[in-house]
Amino acid sequence: MPKIIIIGKGPAGISCALYTARAGIETTIIGNGSGSLGKAEKIENYYGFSEPVSGAELSDSGVEQAKRLGARVLEEEVVGIGYDGSFSVRTDKGEYRADSVVIATGSPRKTPKIKGVEEFEGRGVSYCAVCDAFFYRGRNVCVLGSGEYAVNEARELIHVAGKVTILTNGSELKGEVPEGAEVIKKPVAELKGSDRLESVMFDDGTEIRAEGVFIAYGTAGSADLAKKLGVFTEGNKIVVSENMSTNVPGLFAAGDCTGGLLQVAKAVYEGALAGTEAVKYLRGGK
Ligand SMILES: Cc1cc2nc3c(=O)[nH]c(=O)nc-3n(C[C@H](O)[C@H](O)[C@H](O)COP(=O)(O)OP(=O)(O)OC[C@H]3O[C@@H](n4cnc5c(N)ncnc54)[C@H](O)[C@@H]3O)c2cc1C
Repeated sequence: MPKIIIIGKGPAGISCALYTARAGIETTIIGNGSGSLGKAEKIENYYGFSEPVSGAELSDSGVEQAKRLGARVLEEEVVGIGYDGSFSVRTDKGEYRADSVVIATGSPRKTPKIKGVEEFEGRGVSYCAVCDAFFYRGRNVCVLGSGEYAVNEARELIHVAGKVTILTNGSELKGEVPEGAEVIKKPVAELKGSDRLESVMFDDGTEIRAEGVFIAYGTAGSADLAKKLGVFTEGNKIVVSENMSTNVPGLFAAGDCTGGLLQVAKAVYEGALAGTEAVKYLRGGK
């Protein structure tokens, strides 16, 4: 039986799963919390509810609906996606394979408000280790973040870069320190340099040399995951065709992560379309 993994259990991911599960595709949904929907206190502009419904309630009943139709729902954080003829999705708990993947991870990641981050984007600040590690061969690089995603990015860099330091910016590291990496927990004050990034300065005034800083704050955002596979993005949005496919065969995206109207109705529509198109793709063979 063909397998699909849907990353995200918001309206887009769940709507997609309703179509794939009912079409007999082995459907796994991986989500990490309830995303934007969970933050919406009351929704009163979505079809079918005569009284306002809380985002949390809508989210829970969507998950139950997908489970009833046979989808497997995992509460895990996706930290990377790979492709070698079929897809591999890496999480904080394991690795799963699928013939098709749908990214439905909602709106973009948070960028840390640290002086110099935006200034050095593309000149030392990167958001994707798999994409950019090569440019930092033998160099001193840092990963800014304290979760599983940061640990994963450090692992990608360790074999390529000269030295890898994880900067947790005042937090405890959640995850195992990759062998060979160093961890600095002090709060970061500023990224410094001239034409390119040269160093990281901490709150206590000390500095370390860094030619690259890889931002891996919080969880991997939609564009972070997409870029790892060479998917076209525009800013933080994933570029999709009119049938929600990306430029990578078998990989679809839906919901807030594709931009446009950031509303439940649009996420549900795109999820449904991605689901039906993924079914066609899986039935037609690759
Ligand atoms: C405060 C607030 C109020 C809102 N009010 C309304 C309203 O009244 N009406 C309306 O129509 N819309 C409203 N919205 C917008 C609406 O919530 C979104 O448009 C909708 O939820 C988008 O659905 P989605 O499935 O694309 O993303 P989301 O609902 O954000 O779901 C994203 C999913 O991806 C998962 N995820 C993300 N990263 C990872 C990862 N690395 N690994 C695993 N899982 C991951 C999350 O856990 C989540 O399950 C509101 C949003 C907010 C924040």
